[in-house]
Amino acid sequence: MPVPTTRRTKIVATLGPAWCTPEAMTELLDAGVNVVRINASHGTPEVRDEWVGQLNELISARSEPAAILIDLPGPRIRVGTLEASLTLKAGQEVVFAPEDEAEKGEIPTTYAALAADLDAGDTILLDDGLLAVAVSGTDGNRVRGTVRYGGLLRSNKGINLPGVDVSAAALTEVDRQEVARVIPLGVDFIGLSFVQHPEDLIELRQLVPQTVRLVAKIEKDTAVENCGAIIDAADAVMVARGDLGVELPFERVPLVQKELIREAMMRGKPVITATQMLESMVQAPRPTRAETSDVANAILDGTDAVMLSAETAIGKYPARAVRAMVRIALEVEGHRRGRSPAFDLAVGRRTDETERLRAHRIRDRQPTGTEDAIAVAVSAAVDLMMAPLIVCFTSSGFTARTVAAYRPSVPVVALTPERRTYRQLALVWGVIPVLVDHQPDYESMWRVARRRILDLQLARADDRVVVTAGIPFDTPGTTNLLKVEVV
Ligand code: PEP
Repeated sequence: MPVPTTRRTKIVATLGPAWCTPEAMTELLDAGVNVVRINASHGTPEVRDEWVGQLNELISARSEPAAILIDLPGPRIRVGTLEASLTLKAGQEVVFAPEDEAEKGEIPTTYAALAADLDAGDTILLDDGLLAVAVSGTDGNRVRGTVRYGGLLRSNKGINLPGVDVSAAALTEVDRQEVARVIPLGVDFIGLSFVQHPEDLIELRQLVPQTVRLVAKIEKDTAVENCGAIIDAADAVMVARGDLGVELPFERVPLVQKELIREAMMRGKPVITATQMLESMVQAPRPTRAETSDVANAILDGTDAVMLSAETAIGKYPARAVRAMVRIALEVEGHRRGRSPAFDLAVGRRTDETERLRAHRIRDRQPTGTEDAIAVAVSAAVDLMMAPLIVCFTSSGFTARTVAAYRPSVPVVALTPERRTYRQLALVWGVIPVLVDHQPDYESMWRVARRRILDLQLARADDRVVVTAGIPFDTPGTTNLLKVEVV
């Protein structure tokens, strides 16, 4: 049996025409993909369903888990269908109108309430912010404005409204249909785009069973402002830097990324850093130096996972892009383990910060929850004992996520009888998920764990390991045990 990866940082790769055959999917999973993202903004429902079916077949036959994330488009506002592309010139006056009413010369939009949400002085950004229009006023359901930055405008390009609390419903009819179709096919995560408020997740939760985890994509300034409550309402978070870098002044993105990662870690929720991480690899076989630094810095910030978008979906070198991320992650993590001077220089401050986070989490919830107290104790115990492994018995994945959020110095082997949990833990930093048969009590679970640890060569006979679990089993959210065992 192959040894499971000891890479701590997980890799999310977007599926697309570049790797949609079973052979290519196998190649990318072998290369190190932990979570496959399917972006429901592209392709047809039939193709997406076929991909989910193929992936599920492949994943069930493998000895390491992988998960599927379906990313819903959410209330993305777009330019409607244009008869022909428009060339907009700086200084030109333009009018936006709802798609079904737009007259010749007006810019059609898919969002009928655009005029209701905008005021004079607001900005409309088009095509990832390449074109900009300053709003001068509204007229019924039409918006008037002056082009600030011009260019060629094509049909269906995205519209961003920085600083505007958009009143569109968090879930569109398209989102609802997607959820209803894909849940029975067996997916692990549903991502929601353009989240603005925690209630958006609560609305999505009504449609999605508890066993499927919700990912809040943070890509609007309103979401950044509400990030604590949004992260509390979600099961995981994505720093969706593509739209975030258009909705916010781009110079704010690096520090917002750090803030969101920190907030997610504080709350024990996994966080994905996404978009343009190795963008040049859409065309080139090697990343730029700036890109390798970007991936490394997200890892140093503490992200659970780094994500590939166009690099894998439509790029020329999808498997090489995955392997590049693996190499960067292993290099950075190697320094972390060895505590090299280079690592200390890079993250010395963050290490102090992590200590403060622990203290803060403890102080913040007076008195601290049992699960946090156990997780802190587990992290400290492995360091003091120089133990090679944390072993965790988990049903919902809660114990493993809580321990991992403290970024312990050794891998967390998470044994679970739940196939869904086994797959979902593929996203979580430092966790090696292992699927086992259901065991009635701690003693039988430890016997199974010991055998698997030895088979997988994660520790040697006579090593001490630290075990944590919630007793009784099968009651999610009851982490209450720390035990030292000898393998
Ligand atoms: C993003 O904007 O960074 C993102 C991940 O969303 P999408 O790829 O759906 O635009």
